[in-house]
Amino acid sequence: MISPQFFISYLILIFAWAFSGPIVAAVLSFLAVAVVFYFCLAMKEPSYFLQIFFYGLLFLFIVSFLYEVQKKLNNRRLVYEKMLEDTLLAREESSKKVDLKKALEDKIERFIDLHRFSDVLKDKADVNDVADRMVADVLASFSNAQECTLYLVDETREQLWLAAARRKDNAVVREKRGSVFDQWVLRRSRAVVVEDSRADFRFGLERNAQDIDLRSVAASPLMSENKVLGVLRISSPEAAQFSPDDLRYLDIISDLGAGILRNRLLYKKMEELAVHDSLTGLYLNRFFQSRLDEEILRTQVNRKSFSVILLDIDFFKRYNDEYGHSAGDLVIKSIAGVLQNCVSPVDTVARYGGEEFVVLLPNKNKAEAMVIAERIRLAIEGNHFYLRRIESHVTASLGVVSFPEAGFTREEIIRLADENLYQAKRLGKNRVCGNI
Ligand code: GH3
Ligand code: MG
Ligand code: MG
Repeated sequence: MISPQFFISYLILIFAWAFSGPIVAAVLSFLAVAVVFYFCLAMKEPSYFLQIFFYGLLFLFIVSFLYEVQKKLNNRRLVYEKMLEDTLLAREESSKKVDLKKALEDKIERFIDLHRFSDVLKDKADVNDVADRMVADVLASFSNAQECTLYLVDETREQLWLAAARRKDNAVVREKRGSVFDQWVLRRSRAVVVEDSRADFRFGLERNAQDIDLRSVAASPLMSENKVLGVLRISSPEAAQFSPDDLRYLDIISDLGAGILRNRLLYKKMEELAVHDSLTGLYLNRFFQSRLDEEILRTQVNRKSFSVILLDIDFFKRYNDEYGHSAGDLVIKSIAGVLQNCVSPVDTVARYGGEEFVVLLPNKNKAEAMVIAERIRLAIEGNHFYLRRIESHVTASLGVVSFPEAGFTREEIIRLADENLYQAKRLGKNRVCGNI
């Protein structure tokens, strides 16, 4: 029979185990058994001793059993927690790998883009074509960019000019001389990323109204032999759109573009030097001759006519002798300006030689050409300039010929123009002649 004291002591054991764990339960139960044992001794009931011994053994057995159960449960909990932790780590690791894979894919894509980009640029012959292609590709590569611009340096005027621009909303880029960011890059020859231009002290004071649209900016200089050729910029009206990684990519494109653009600009300069006269900026005779050949062919096909005016300044030797060669050069330059103002952009004005000029007038017949020649003559006569503080002017004689009346070859046309010019000189100079 179980005495109520034992029953109570085991109840204490169960509750203590449930609420405080096996060690506290063992201590409390041991105390309970000790108290019961003390009462048994006090009541001098020897028959209880056997029970005490038996229940004591049972107690030890149960405590050790519960202890084992607890240990196993704890172990399981630890294993479960470990598994949970491992799963979380694995998940984190895998998401990191996914990010890394994405970043690598992006990088590979950008390298492929760069490769394609440099291939395509090499095929572009013209500066404007290269610039256009650059901004189109850059805008397509940066999903966060709203606008991409490429400004080139105009060395003669020492300012930027807009070579190409694109916006995702197809709006027109109005800033033709570069924003404060482009000027900043140009002055410092270094790339810049602006997270939020409204909060950036570097640009706060000088920012103008148009730049407010440019909240995030990444801009990189196009460098060639330590000189800035231009500025490539991407921008967005949202803040914090571009990372240092984006800037690095933009830098690579700028370097690539700078190399190709430099060659194209040099080529353009050489071409210009080869066809333009250095004193007047007019076309050289060589260029005029090839234009004349083209015009003969073209006019033969469209069955229209064209005219040529040959012009020689009167008494020019006198000017040179009186005022010197440099003053004579100034007069030649000034006459070149007058001539260009008298004709339309489709006409070709060239320096034929010394103080002789030639004008090619496509689609103009003899009568129309005579009117233009007279207008030129009057403009030259009315073009007054100062030599040694004395007001002066020159006059010119002009010979006019038209195709096809003047013949079908270049030589014939020039010969007749020359004869008409000679006739004008013979008749007293400062006149137009087109009779021959
Ligand atoms: P004409 O009215 O008959 O044309 O008389 P001209 O004195 O103009 O005679 P011509 O056309 O034969 O003389 C050309 C002169 O122009 C000779 C040369 O001294 C001068 N000349 C030719 N080329 C240049 C040049 O590049 N600069 C200067 N300053 N003078 C030149
Ligand atoms: Mg002459
Ligand atoms: Mg002359």
